[in-house]
Amino acid sequence: MALFGTNGVRGIVNEYITPELAVNLARSLGTYMGSKGTVAIGCDTRISGQMLKFATISGALSTGLTVIDVGTVPTPSIQYYVRDHADAGIVITASHNPRQYNGIKFIAGDGSEFSRDGEKDIEKIYYAGKYSIVSWEKTGNFSNDPGVNEYYLKNIINSVNAEAIRSRRFKVVVDTGCGAGSLTLPFLLSKLGCQVLTLEAQPDGTFPWRNPEPLPEALTELTKLVKITGADMGAAHDGDADRVVLIDENGKFINAEVLLAMMAKYILEHDKGPIVTPVSSSQRMADIAKDADIKLYWTAVGSINVARKMMEVNAVFGGEGNGGLIFPKHQYCRDGAMACVMVLEILANGKKISDLAKSVPEYFNAKTKVPSKNIQATMEIVKQEASGLGFKIDTTDGIKIWYEDGWVLIRPSGTEPILRVFAEAKTQDRTEELMQEGLNMVKRAEKVSICE
Ligand code: MG
Repeated sequence: MALFGTNGVRGIVNEYITPELAVNLARSLGTYMGSKGTVAIGCDTRISGQMLKFATISGALSTGLTVIDVGTVPTPSIQYYVRDHADAGIVITASHNPRQYNGIKFIAGDGSEFSRDGEKDIEKIYYAGKYSIVSWEKTGNFSNDPGVNEYYLKNIINSVNAEAIRSRRFKVVVDTGCGAGSLTLPFLLSKLGCQVLTLEAQPDGTFPWRNPEPLPEALTELTKLVKITGADMGAAHDGDADRVVLIDENGKFINAEVLLAMMAKYILEHDKGPIVTPVSSSQRMADIAKDADIKLYWTAVGSINVARKMMEVNAVFGGEGNGGLIFPKHQYCRDGAMACVMVLEILANGKKISDLAKSVPEYFNAKTKVPSKNIQATMEIVKQEASGLGFKIDTTDGIKIWYEDGWVLIRPSGTEPILRVFAEAKTQDRTEELMQEGLNMVKRAEKVSICE
C-alpha cells in the first residue's frame, strides 16, 4: 500500500495516524539520511499535533539525527527555516482536512517538498522495518528554536516593497481559521502598517467555527465583516497556511483561479520568464502567458510537480488555482502569507482589489467529482473516446480535451476512489454543457468498464 498521498501521509488520528506510525516514519527518515544531519520538526494547531510531533522527535533521535523542535508553525514557515538551517524537515499537518485528521509530511533540505522518489525510498525502509538505530551514546542532540515564525516573517517583509505597503495603511480582515496562520498573518500585516481585524485568530485545534478548508461557504462571517468595516480586503488561510483566499472590498469571494492569474500578470509585468501551473488551472494563465510572450508549462496536479518544474525551467512564478502560489525569489513552495502580502504590494499603487480581479480574462469554471469503481479501466475507455473526437488531447495528468471554445479535464483523485471532472469556457452555459459532456463520457465508460 502506498503510504504517501498527494501531500504526505494523512489519515484519522489514532486510527491510521498513530504515534507508532510517527516514530517509525521518523526512523525511516533517519535511516534514509544515514543517521547524519539536522531535522527541524514542527506542527500545526491540531489537537494531536504535540502527540505526533514528540513521537517523530523520538524516532529521529533514536537514529542519531540532530533535532530542532520549531513548535507550532505554518508549513511555509518551517520550509523557509529548513532551507537555511537544516538538512530536512518534518511537519505534522493535515492542511485543509477536517478536524479528526492529521498527517506527516517531509521537507527536503532546500525547503521544497520531499521528492516522490525520496518518499518511495522512505516507504521501502518503513515497510522493511530495518531502521538504523544507533547505540546509546550516539542518540541525537535536541534543541528548541522558538524564533522560526519571526524569522519567516522578517524574510517575507524583505521580499516585498514594504515601504509602499506601509504608506497605504491598509485595513485588512483576517480569518486564519484557528490554524497555524494565526501565529503569523495578523502579525505580518501589523508589521506592514495595516490595520488588522481578526476572526478565528486564536490557535485552536478543535476548529470551533469552521473547517480548515477556506471554502466560500465557510467564510460568510469574513465577507460580512469586510463589508461592514469598509476594509480593503479580506484574507483566509487553510489549516497550515500554505494557501490564501481573498475577499474583495465589496465582500465578494475572489475565485482562486483569478487570484493566480492576476498575480501571474503582475509578476510578468516586472520580470519576464516562464510560468508554471497544473493542467487543472484556468486558460486565463495561457492568455496571460501569450500576452507577455513567455512560455507557460503545464504540469500534473500537485504543488510538488509545479515547484520542481519551476526549478527546472527557472520560472518567475507558478502556482495552483486553489490559493497555493509559489514565488521562487522567496522560496520554492506554496506560501499563503507571501501571496497575501504580494497582493497588497500590487494594491499599493492605488488600485482596488475588485478592479485587479477584473483585469484578467473572464472565464467560467466548473468542478465536480464522480465515484468510480474501476478507475484505470474507466480512464482507458475515456481516453479512447476522447481521442476519437478530433480535438487536441493532453495526457499530462488524466485526460484534458481542448475543444475549440473551452476544455474538459477528467483525472483520478490521488487519494480517493473518485474521478474529478473540470470544465472551463467563456460563458456559464457553455461551461455547463462541457461539464455535462465530461460527465456523460465518464458514465458511459464506467458502465462499459464494470461490464468488462
Ligand atoms: Mg495547506
